[in-house]
Amino acid sequence: MKIGFPRALFYYDYFPFWAGFFYRLGIEVVTSPPTNRQIMEDGLKKISDETCLPLKLLAGHIQALKDVDAIFLPRMVSVEADTYNCPKFLGIPESLLPAVPPEIPVLSAVINWRGGQRQVLKDLRKLGLELGKSKQEIRAAFREGQMWQQRYLDSRGTGWNFEQEMREIEHFAGGQRDAVVCSPKLVPESGRDSVLTPLKQISQAKQRLKITLIGHSYLIQEAYANLNLLGRLREKAEIQLVQHVEPNEVEENLTGLRKKLFWNHAKQIYGAGNKFAQDRTIDGIIYLTCFGCGTDSMVQELVARKVRDQHKPYMVITLDEHTGEAGLVTRLEAFLDMVERRKAREGNISAHGECLDRYSSSL
Ligand code: SF4
Repeated sequence: MKIGFPRALFYYDYFPFWAGFFYRLGIEVVTSPPTNRQIMEDGLKKISDETCLPLKLLAGHIQALKDVDAIFLPRMVSVEADTYNCPKFLGIPESLLPAVPPEIPVLSAVINWRGGQRQVLKDLRKLGLELGKSKQEIRAAFREGQMWQQRYLDSRGTGWNFEQEMREIEHFAGGQRDAVVCSPKLVPESGRDSVLTPLKQISQAKQRLKITLIGHSYLIQEAYANLNLLGRLREKAEIQLVQHVEPNEVEENLTGLRKKLFWNHAKQIYGAGNKFAQDRTIDGIIYLTCFGCGTDSMVQELVARKVRDQHKPYMVITLDEHTGEAGLVTRLEAFLDMVERRKAREGNISAHGECLDRYSSSL
């Protein structure tokens, strides 16, 4: 059996789990191709204008899945005990049914960790039985999925290369069992540094700006929709991502809130954003969001306040399907120039900060 897995939304954070799960059940998983113009246009035709960009892309990727026996659309309700995913994750698969070709059946499963492991296993059992698997096989597949997911999460430190990581997992999940996914080989994000002399490396490391890119993984890693923002930034600066921050650091930085954030991604973005805001080695912060994102409309403002308190340069980039390259590049260059100038001249003249900051109480 061949299951189609769309390369959008839940793919970016949870694909390793599902790849491991189906691999253990002996089911081949194929993913849709990377986003292109056709996929984007197909997605726009099948889903409401008002919804967020990642969901529109998901609708396009579903239509791009060809020659598969079923399309897999999980309902990821909650991935840890005390949080929920965004409500739009909860509406899947129903909200995406118009995008599914009529001749292809939809497979789904609920993942809800608020009910604990027993509940998750119970829900997975329903999917496994539908696929003709035994209880033992389903339990083993669950463990395998968890192992793949943990290995993926552990790899997200320095030198993490998302594309390579996913390529290896896809290779394995697609039936190429000679691939060595058990120990993902981590490669440096830029190979260029290796040919520089040590002296040059040291001076470059000193001069390079340190920029943080905050946002949902399915926006940051989606190079077509974000016009290769991450790649452009990496050419000019050392980049830190929300996904590089360990869960315990996220928890420690969930400060300054009257109530707990109960959306999983929002919690991760706020905790990591707060940490980066206070990190003196970070020169500037960019928040990548999209039109129609309910959780970001609130979290973006919460992060902005934290960054403002620290007088750090901050820019918000809001994506939609009409975002143009020229506008993005101009804004990016202007922002990086400003951060660079500020970094270079900070010791000479106060062009920012408490003396000239009208919100400051020290004047
Ligand atoms: S968190 Fe925002 S971008 Fe993500 S699915 Fe929900 S509304 Fe869309």
